[in-house]
Formats: sequence, structure tokens, C-alpha cells
Amino acid sequence: MSSEFDIAIIGGGNAGLTLAARLASQDSPPSTVVIEPQTPKQRDCSWGLWALDQQTQQLAQSTKGRWRRWQLIDDHSRIIHSSNQYSYLSLSSAAYLTDCEAQLREPVSLLRESVTALHSEHHQTIVETSQGQLSANTVYDSRPPKLIDNGLRQHFLGWHIQTKAPIKDADIATLMDFRVDQSRGLHFIYALPYSDHQLLIESTLISTSVEPQDWYRNAIECWLRDNKIEIAQLIGEEMGVIPMDTLVNDSPALAAKDQPLITTIGAASGAVRRSSGYAFQHIQQQMGQLAAGIAKGNMAVPTPLSSGLTTMDNIFNGVLISSPDLAVSLYMRMAKALNGDQFARFMLGQATTSDWLRVISAMPKGPFLKQLLKQLLKPSIKAVSHA
Ligand SMILES: Cc1cc2nc3c(=O)[nH]c(=O)nc-3n(C[C@H](O)[C@H](O)[C@H](O)COP(=O)(O)OP(=O)(O)OC[C@H]3O[C@@H](n4cnc5c(N)ncnc54)[C@H](O)[C@@H]3O)c2cc1C
Repeated sequence: MSSEFDIAIIGGGNAGLTLAARLASQDSPPSTVVIEPQTPKQRDCSWGLWALDQQTQQLAQSTKGRWRRWQLIDDHSRIIHSSNQYSYLSLSSAAYLTDCEAQLREPVSLLRESVTALHSEHHQTIVETSQGQLSANTVYDSRPPKLIDNGLRQHFLGWHIQTKAPIKDADIATLMDFRVDQSRGLHFIYALPYSDHQLLIESTLISTSVEPQDWYRNAIECWLRDNKIEIAQLIGEEMGVIPMDTLVNDSPALAAKDQPLITTIGAASGAVRRSSGYAFQHIQQQMGQLAAGIAKGNMAVPTPLSSGLTTMDNIFNGVLISSPDLAVSLYMRMAKALNGDQFARFMLGQATTSDWLRVISAMPKGPFLKQLLKQLLKPSIKAVSHA
């Protein structure tokens, strides 16, 4: 394999491999290398998203579960949404990434290595890996971002279980069940019935500090007990932390300072919705637009989320932090104000003006106006990039 490339993509996760697969499908792709140390299986987790029917079919091979109905529950009510247009999908990240890897063809390739350093030389970037070095005209960096100290994050631990008895309402995905301990932050159970005997249950906290693993396990056990669900077999456990706040540059040892040829993509470029932690669809869209741009010679990375959406999410998070007693009701009010299609659009960042008006009119005005004022008076924070 050559050691000179048009494009080097650091990290073969959702962003890196989606971009590489899109480039590989073009008529005359640029020479591209994806550098990723881990196999898809080594970093398998579940990715949830809303999708229209066409994309649902495209993702069928990686799909573990699909629901037309989903619910949010608190101590007072249970809101069930159904949609004819959108499905809520749970993907196996390993299956999705394996499928992307299978689509790569010359001159787009994968190097199962780790990037250790970057530096510039004669308008090119030298990428040092555990096994040697290569050079590229353009580098897209998707290494996971770091969060500001005390930043808001979504952290969770989940169990995939086989149940002893059939699961009640196995056709409904539980997105948020707030009837759990709220003492450590905004806490909910996310429960996806993959079949009438298989369930993914995650204890999810939105707060600034991650709890010991047993805290989440205990929450799952309590929820299972309360719902009279008995485990026949623990199939797997997964955990994760998703940043929902301002990002900071990666480790200084790996970042190439003042290097205009390196740009972040995916979560590292701010693709995670700060109010929900969802990023899959924004990354798909960003990579689709980037691949189309590259085909026309435009290497610039599109912004994954509009600044208006990020500002709205910051206001929402500001209210979550400043008025924790309101947190559960904010999500419940939002769900109540929308039907299934409107809710899916809202979560996808594709809300129409009338969807927005419905949500805004359902929110408590005082805390939101206070946060809006705070945002307007705050000096602007630029999107993170290694550029
Ligand atoms: C556990 C978890 C669950 C999530 N669930 C959802 C969900 O349900 N729905 C949703 O919309 N979003 C979800 N997200 C958020 C987001 O969609 C994912 O984080 C998504 O994988 C981000 O894609 P990415 O390509 O930006 O980063 P990643 O997929 O994290 O890819 C970055 C890659 O960089 C590689 N890497 C790291 N260091 C190096 C190095 N030195 N050299 C080379 N490669 C390196 C890593 O191995 C990794 O594969 C989840 C995130 C996590 C962490």
C-alpha cells in the first residue's frame, strides 16, 4: 500500500467509516486511508435513532429492533406515541461498521492501527501510527472529543437480558421511564424489547459526574423488580458516556497546532445534540454532504448542527441545570405537546415552525426566558476543531 494519500481519516467509527464507504462508492474516489485500531466487534454498542422507511430498509442488516410506538413515563402519566412515518431503530454498531468496512475498495482502505502523532511538512500532514508513518493532503479527525470540566454528560450502563416470562407491551420502546431514583441528576430507564423475551435496559443519568458502575446496576435491578421482570440470562452489558456540553481540543500530544489541513468530523466536530445525546443521524447527514462536496473538490466539513439548534439546546440544558426540580416535567411536557411524527422530527433536529411553537408554548416561560437572557449575554463559544 502507498504511504501517500489524498485523505487520511483518523478513527473508523460512525463518522470515519460512513465517510470512507461513501467515498468508495464514487466513480473516481480520492486515495483514502482510514486509521482505526479496534475491530467493530471490540467496540460494539447500541445506537438508537428515528428513521423513515427508506433508511429503515437500508439499515435492516444492522438493526436489532424496530418500533412504531414509543413511550415516556413519570409518576403521573404515561405518554405513548405512534407513528406511520418514522420507526425508532436500535442498531448494532458492530454490524453497521462491519458493513461499511465491507464496502471499502481501492483506493479507499483501512489500516488497523492507532495514530500517535500528527505534524505538518510541505503542505501535507504526516500521520504517525504505531507501525510507521504516512502522509495526506487532508486529514479528517474523528477521535472522541473531550468535554470541559464539570460539563453536562449523559452516562449509562445497560444490560441485554433474556427474560423468564414474555415481556408486556413488547411492541413499545420505552425511551424514558423517570420512576427511578432522581437524587444524582436527571435519571431514567431506557428499555427496548428486542423480542417478547429479550430486553435492553439502560440506567441513564444526565449530570456532570459519572457514578460507580454498581449504582446503575442497582437501578436496573430495582426497575426490573418494580416491573416484575425476572432475568433468565444476562446476555451482555454495555456502558458509555456521551458529552452534552462544550468540547475541548484533544490531547495536546496528538493535536497538530496551527495545522489548516486537519478538521474534526462526527462527534468531535460537535455532532451530538446537547439536549438528547443523539448524534447518529446528524453524523450520517454531515458525512453524506462532505462526501458529495469532496467529489466536487470541496474538502470543507459542513457544520453538523445549525447554530440556532445548538443555542436552543443550550437554553434547554441551562434550564435542566438551574431548575433540576423541573427536569422530568420538561421532557414530559414536550412529549405531551407533540404527536409521534412531530416528536420524531423534533428529535431528529427537523422540527417545523409549528412543532417548535407547540414545544415552546408547553414550556414554563420564566426559567426559559432567564436562560435565553443568559445565552444572549454570554460571549460566543466557537465549535471545536483542530484546525
Ligand atoms: C456508548 C455510546 C452509545 C451511543 N448511543 C447513541 C445512540 O443511541 N444514538 C445516537 O444517535 N448517538 C449515540 N451515541 C453518540 C454518537 O452517535 C456515537 O458516539 C457515534 O459513535 C459518534 O461517531 P464518531 O465517528 O464521531 O465517533 P466514534 O464512533 O466514537 O469513532 C471514533 C473512533 O476513533 C477511534 N480512535 C480513538 N483514538 C484513536 C487513535 N489514536 N487513532 C485512530 N483511531 C482512534 C476509536 O477507536 C473510534 O472507533 C452514543 C455514543 C456512545 C459512546
